[in-house]
Amino acid sequence: MQLVEPALNLSAQSRPRAAKWHLFAIALASGVLAAAAMWFSHSAGRISPVWLGNAVVLSVLLGRPREQWPLFLFCAMLGNVIASLVLRDMPLLALGMAFCNAIEIWIAAMPWRDHAERLPDFTRFQILRHFALSGMLLGPAVSGMMASTMLWLLVGKPLWDTFSVWYPADALGLAVLTPLLVSLRARQVAWLFSPAQWRSSVLWLSGTLGVTALVFSQNRYPILFLCIPAVLGCVFSMGLHGALLAVVLGGALALWLTLAGHGPMMLVAGDNTSHMLLLQGFILTCVLMIFPVAATLAERQRLEARLRQRETRFRMMTESSDDMTVLLDKQRTRVYVSPAARALYGCEPAQLLGLQAFSNVHPDDLPHIEAAFEALNSGDESASSTYRIKRLDSGEWQWIDALYRRMQGREFSEVRYLLNLRDGTQQKEAQLALEAANKHLITLASMDGLTRVANRHTFDLKLTQEWQRTIRSGGVVGLLFIDVDHFKLFNDQYGHPMGDQALYQIAQTIEDFAQRPEDLAARYGGEEFAVILPDTDIVGCFEVAERIRKAVLDLRIPHGSSDNGQITISIGAACMYPLLGHDQAELVKRADTAVYQAKATGRNRVSVAG
Ligand code: GH3
Ligand code: MG
Ligand code: MG
Repeated sequence: MQLVEPALNLSAQSRPRAAKWHLFAIALASGVLAAAAMWFSHSAGRISPVWLGNAVVLSVLLGRPREQWPLFLFCAMLGNVIASLVLRDMPLLALGMAFCNAIEIWIAAMPWRDHAERLPDFTRFQILRHFALSGMLLGPAVSGMMASTMLWLLVGKPLWDTFSVWYPADALGLAVLTPLLVSLRARQVAWLFSPAQWRSSVLWLSGTLGVTALVFSQNRYPILFLCIPAVLGCVFSMGLHGALLAVVLGGALALWLTLAGHGPMMLVAGDNTSHMLLLQGFILTCVLMIFPVAATLAERQRLEARLRQRETRFRMMTESSDDMTVLLDKQRTRVYVSPAARALYGCEPAQLLGLQAFSNVHPDDLPHIEAAFEALNSGDESASSTYRIKRLDSGEWQWIDALYRRMQGREFSEVRYLLNLRDGTQQKEAQLALEAANKHLITLASMDGLTRVANRHTFDLKLTQEWQRTIRSGGVVGLLFIDVDHFKLFNDQYGHPMGDQALYQIAQTIEDFAQRPEDLAARYGGEEFAVILPDTDIVGCFEVAERIRKAVLDLRIPHGSSDNGQITISIGAACMYPLLGHDQAELVKRADTAVYQAKATGRNRVSVAG
């Protein structure tokens, strides 16, 4: 049965103030209860089995500011003294006994002196320990010793006679009644009779009374043990306060029947006092049994409530997140999938449970996932990867950004993997766009904007590279320098835009002949071009140069100021065997000189460096 007791909280409205009627009520209650107990013990030579007044005063003190304690204790003493005087006790004795009771209450209340305004929760072990020490042991023992001494001095009553009556009656009264009255103030007893609980409460209370009646109405069998399961049942079904209420009701019935000469106590030879002592011992034992069992149960319920609260919080966080949370077992099978699966996988979370987590991943991306798991298994705290999965609704590829964590510890019997997945489409698109932009930038930086062939910077780099490479590998580097003939005149005649177009056509034609992967055609500057021909001797260079010259001629770009009426080019070809200590500038110089030679000897020709 689920047992949820309300918390021990005093609301702002119910916060106690020392109203006059409170003081009067405490004096009256203390007086009446004292009078009742004294009348009971004075009449017919009986002894008072339980002293209830102190528990009432103590339960009123708890939860009140400490400054008010002396006033309440004074009123309680006053009621006590008046009751004694009415019952014709000696004034000094009346005052002394009332003082002893006040001391007992003061000692019992001591553990709560620093946080007096909070009602103690008797289902907490720490509170119980304090209460057992101060309320059930020290308080009644100290007051019992003081009262015994006083009675011995004033009327000569033996010390043990007083103490043996005082201590159990007071300890029992405080133990049973204080938690019950405190819970009454915190409205916990009201919960016992709430719509959801009252049937169970009535059943267990009447059951306990029935068992008590059965045990205490006969004098033949010592069947006290039958009370134990009844009391334990009360704890499990009603908690601490319900069980204490059962003890109060059952105890009262047992007292009444015992005083009437019935019950198992009669099986023990002895007088009323010893019968009563035995009964008090039995009831006290029941109470001592109730406290730890109830505290353990309450502690478990508090723990469960805390766990439920925490789980709800985490569940809300994972389930309301746009990120998909997935928990995998050691075999990478999904054991938990959050609702974000609907957006990311296009299916209900339940459809993914129990399946291999990476079965619908694009085959090209599987190595990234393996790498992430390898990193985790070799001790990395977390790993990440991006991959594509096939959506279950549309069958389209969906980019996923995944963050992996390895979970291992006391909470898991075996390794678990926690995955945090989110839509990676935007990020992937951004990455691809960035890569394309970078590529484009690199191309732009290495290319001449007008002619779309490599620029001067690229030419310089490439020539240096080839020169160095050829020094290491041995061999020859060929270079062609190409200059358009009478191009200034072309511009003058046809205009710059036409000049640009002609340059573009010439550049593209030249590039067509830089056929080998290592060849490079570049714009050297203005209307001058260069072609690097690695591993090409002078014969090869000449051949390529001739082919380029003819191809440009074949473009048949009209040039009115040219000798043959169309654009022509002059080419200087050079080649060198690079040696350590020489640099490529020498090759450039030779090719340049060869161009001049070609110009000087009539243009539209190839000249080879000497
Ligand atoms: P030569 O036969 O002696 O080489 O005569 P040339 O007129 O070609 O010689 P010069 O070097 O004096 O002239 C080069 C001309 O090339 C000058 C300039 O008008 C033209 N030129 C250089 N760069 C460009 C360009 O980007 N676009 C155009 N349209 N013309 C250019
Ligand atoms: Mg020139
Ligand atoms: Mg020129």
